[in-house]
Amino acid sequence: MSDSSTISDDLVDHVPDPGDSDEQQLVRYLSEHSDECPLCNYNLRGVTRAICPECGHGLKLTVGLTDLLIWPWAAMAVALCLLAGLGLMCLFMVILEGMPPDNGAPWSVLVRDLTIYVFMASVPIAAAVVFLRKRILRMPTSKQKTLAWSCIGICIVNFTLFFVSMAIAMRT
Ligand SMILES: [Zn+2]
Repeated sequence: MSDSSTISDDLVDHVPDPGDSDEQQLVRYLSEHSDECPLCNYNLRGVTRAICPECGHGLKLTVGLTDLLIWPWAAMAVALCLLAGLGLMCLFMVILEGMPPDNGAPWSVLVRDLTIYVFMASVPIAAAVVFLRKRILRMPTSKQKTLAWSCIGICIVNFTLFFVSMAIAMRT
């Protein structure tokens, strides 16, 4: 490499040599950039091999997305898993002992039974949301947000109605 022009030499340094192996390109990238090990968060700047010096795991170059929105799916999954958690409990109770007795005002019994059905229906829906994660992430963002807020809303409303109707049933 000539020392006549430091600027062009500097630019050449940033262009990966097509002959470079993936490991060489990674080491070259990390000689100029600070990046953390995805596992142990060790700052990998200046490593000489494609191995994390801290945790010993191999490193590779990957392509990442800059605009992946994960919260709508995560919110959906959390809301539905909360519903499904109680849904599983309800399912076992209903299988073992049937629906709870109809004490209290008819409307509160109806509301309680409806919330129990929503809890139980959430079990397969939560499983589907976890299983179909990639398909949901490919949906338009606005649709994902609508689904997320719907799940959060259903979760809050169903838990509230369930506990209110249970409290009314216990008081009478
Ligand atoms: Zn590490």
